[in-house]
Amino acid sequence: MLIVQKYGGTSLQDAERIQAAAKRVAGLAQQGARVIVVVSAQGDHTDRLIQSARQINPRGSRREMDACLATGEQLSAAFMAMAIGALGYPAVSLTGWQAGLKTDNNFGNARILSLDPARINRELDAGNVVVVTGFQGIDAGGNITTLGRGGSDTTAVALAAFLKADVCQIFTDVDGVYDRDPRKYPDATRFGRISYDKMLQLVENGAQVLHLPCVELAKAHKLTVEVLSAFTGEPGTLVGP
Ligand code: ASP
Ligand code: MG
Repeated sequence: MLIVQKYGGTSLQDAERIQAAAKRVAGLAQQGARVIVVVSAQGDHTDRLIQSARQINPRGSRREMDACLATGEQLSAAFMAMAIGALGYPAVSLTGWQAGLKTDNNFGNARILSLDPARINRELDAGNVVVVTGFQGIDAGGNITTLGRGGSDTTAVALAAFLKADVCQIFTDVDGVYDRDPRKYPDATRFGRISYDKMLQLVENGAQVLHLPCVELAKAHKLTVEVLSAFTGEPGTLVGP
């Protein structure tokens, strides 16, 4: 059983939340599942990195911007691996390039082209939980790239699709997909299930809950993705055929 779980920035905001996510992951490892955890940067870390970079050079190159922004996910991946390790389960963090995620060279909005699964499989075979940085990869020239804001969702779906995972779960700060933003509209209704096309429509109309390429990739690979709350443990919304 191979499970991919992605945790967003709010779900990793502080030590307690990282530890809560690590606990859920450890529970799966205990049951014998192979687990890949994809992480976003903590809280608003990416926004703060953008601000700091702009203070230094408002017109910094897109290559250096990506080298800068990729560090947010690297930090949370290391923290997550440490938190899982603290619960007694071996875990290893991998950057996008260590995980074999190749992209084009469109810095700031790169597209995933392929995955070389060798390193991830080696770590899983050795009994490790594998924590992969979301939102980043490497281009053919060996440069770090990022996938566009919100791109960690796409990393999770790409790993789940290419490695043929049995389950792909996206943990977030809402308990599923709604017809409108539930943080703004208290009467928004939640979907138990939603089709890829309806989901694409919602995202195209501005829903932030999933990154657009992630839904396209899931549709292309017929991968069912569950969007659920990192805080409640309740079932969320299944995005599927
Ligand atoms: N950390 C990146 C962002 O804030 C990627 C992500 O969270 O998915 O956009
Ligand atoms: Mg997001």
